Amino acid sequence: MEAEALLNRLNEEHSLTAEELVTLLKEMTPVLKKRLFQLADETRRKYYGTQVYVRGLIEFSSFCKQNCKYCGLRRGNVKAERYRLTEKEIVDCAAEGYKLGYRSFVLQSGEDFGFTEELMISIVRRLKSRFPDAAVTLSIGERSEAFYRALYEAGAERYLLRHEAASRPLYESLHPGMSYENRLRSLALLKSIGYQIGAGFMVGLPGQSYGHLAEDLLFLKELQPEMIGIGPFIPHSSTPLKHAVGGTVDETLVLIALARLLVPKALMPATTAMGSLDPGGREKALAAGANVVMPNLSPLRVREKYALYENKICTGDDGPRCRGCIELRIAASGYEIALGRGDHYSYSRTP
Ligand code: SAH
Ligand code: SF4
Repeated sequence: MEAEALLNRLNEEHSLTAEELVTLLKEMTPVLKKRLFQLADETRRKYYGTQVYVRGLIEFSSFCKQNCKYCGLRRGNVKAERYRLTEKEIVDCAAEGYKLGYRSFVLQSGEDFGFTEELMISIVRRLKSRFPDAAVTLSIGERSEAFYRALYEAGAERYLLRHEAASRPLYESLHPGMSYENRLRSLALLKSIGYQIGAGFMVGLPGQSYGHLAEDLLFLKELQPEMIGIGPFIPHSSTPLKHAVGGTVDETLVLIALARLLVPKALMPATTAMGSLDPGGREKALAAGANVVMPNLSPLRVREKYALYENKICTGDDGPRCRGCIELRIAASGYEIALGRGDHYSYSRTP
């Protein structure tokens, strides 16, 4: 079937086979791309209107025990500067976000077991008691089932854990010492506990084919996560993948739009990585079906140290400046900033 017919079917049925997705990816023309983005935007508007949800991001530790080949925070990167925020600093970052109107916070870090279950519970409880109408999301890597349960009980309601690669060989080639099974098991567990979960992947990884990308998209369709993070891979000069080519904004936009059509109600960020490769990258992502932005609330002195990749944007803008900039960008793209908790379509909208 020709690519245009495949796209129309994808739009109507929200489903295609892996082979059909590969055909669509291979035969993507500028005209088809325009149509794809338009359909993705219409789909997002059907469920979420023109609203773009805001999550205040707090990068609270750059320590990591893992060694993911693509990431600047991997433990093998001896040049990485490591820091940990204190519990008080984390709460202060959230307080600043709260003042700016944010009602959704993402706590992100490397896999830092210095942040014990006890400490994480204390942080989440404090955030929930001080900001009861705000949602708390964790993005801290793989932990035990008991940990996931305890943090859910403490009030964390969302968990971001990108699957990174649905293909086992590709996953294993990028994650020395990590288990593909455990990644998938963690996502299933988090979902069964009751978290709104986020999965996703990077575009442009070395060894990643159209076949792999089709597998990633179908994995998302099967899992039905509430949130889907898709961003370009940006090589970091102090990692084993320093000579890799990396992903582009253009390729990533296609994957974002396809994910929107396959999982129509997902919440999907216009990632900082998109904005880092192209000053208009996040706006382009919004126009291709993304509907979340994540302004940074981390203290300015640590921003450059949280270097998953280099040349990250927004390392010099404090909370209020980020807020102003993001709001302007959203409005200029023809959308509206939504400052509520921004729950998934299927969840109750009450705090
Ligand atoms: N340690 C946690 C959360 C921080 S990493 C975790 O791994 O889940 C958050 C995301 O950053 C990862 O899921 C990965 O997809 C992305 N990332 C890491 N290195 C990157 C790079 N070089 N370019 C683009 N994205 C990267
Ligand atoms: Fe650590 Fe996450 Fe980076 Fe992997 S992607 S090295 S787990 S911070």
